[in-house]
Amino acid sequence: MSKKKIAVLTSGGDAPGMNAAIRSVVRTAISHGMEVMGVYRGYNGLISNDMKPMQLRDVSDIIHRGGTILYTARSLKFKEPEGLAAAVENCKKNDISGVVVIGGDGSFRGARALSNAGIPCIGLPGTIDNDISCSEYTIGFDTAMNTAMSMVDKLRDTAQSHDRCSVVEVMGRAAGDLALKTGIAVGATYIIVPERQFSLDEVIERMERTRQSGKKHFIIVVAEGIGGVDEIARKIEEATGIESRATVLGHVQRGGSPTVRDRVTASRMGYHAVQLLEQGIGNRVVAVEHGKIVDYDISEALNMKKTFDEELYQVALDISI
Ligand code: ADP
Repeated sequence: MSKKKIAVLTSGGDAPGMNAAIRSVVRTAISHGMEVMGVYRGYNGLISNDMKPMQLRDVSDIIHRGGTILYTARSLKFKEPEGLAAAVENCKKNDISGVVVIGGDGSFRGARALSNAGIPCIGLPGTIDNDISCSEYTIGFDTAMNTAMSMVDKLRDTAQSHDRCSVVEVMGRAAGDLALKTGIAVGATYIIVPERQFSLDEVIERMERTRQSGKKHFIIVVAEGIGGVDEIARKIEEATGIESRATVLGHVQRGGSPTVRDRVTASRMGYHAVQLLEQGIGNRVVAVEHGKIVDYDISEALNMKKTFDEELYQVALDISI
């Protein structure tokens, strides 16, 4: 009897730790007696049949590397019925009986479509935004937080030397978790996130209050979902007279060698995904719940609402006086 064969791909925005997840999928599959195909550039690779068999040594020396050795892409074609049909056709032609999809919400929608078309798929949350509702944690988040923290630490040095205010935009798309945790870690005077209403008057009032107790330089962290840091800096300077500079950290937050947490989480999730496919189970998303690796039906996962850590936000406010 021929061996069971699965495939792995990375899709959507890249995140540090995706390579560790690919490695885990390949090594788990092979150690469980399966074959694995690596698919290039997300769903595009399924449509164009751009894939190759992965052996144990093909994933050597990648656990510490950011990015993804399989490359990633956003595939508009895959959203069309013809694109999906071509992907299904190529999976069948290559005897692929399941696919591990590493990506975000959009990629999981694709994984659901492919599962419904007869190819069982397992989604692994890989995004620096930590914006997957069903999971406490997503691969790449810890590395991105640490990158953002060290960048803002550098900005603090110069803000401090010049008695300036540094207004910094960190990534996170519509989610404020990256901004919140980075903001706490860098001792931000204020953290502006999409989940909480904010008024610039409140930010300015807090700056004035801390100035009275001797504070001379300020860091204001702004989530990507709010944006407009140039405007915020200009208004702060106008209202306070404190020279204010805006910085958008940007894609630097998506790169770099993954942290221990990202490598370990990716390894655990990859292992779990292969175990599901081994049993012929598809249409699931792997998640972290109370520190344990679990899985959810994709539709159920996509319908969950991401909660914002209000308690932690209050901590941030209370200690940034
Ligand atoms: P992310 O996975 O990071 O959220 P995107 O939202 O760009 O990134 O989605 C990645 C890819 O997933 C898309 O380019 C597309 O190929 C596929 N995808 C997204 N939504 C759907 C959908 N509704 N049906 C089928 N495929 C989808």
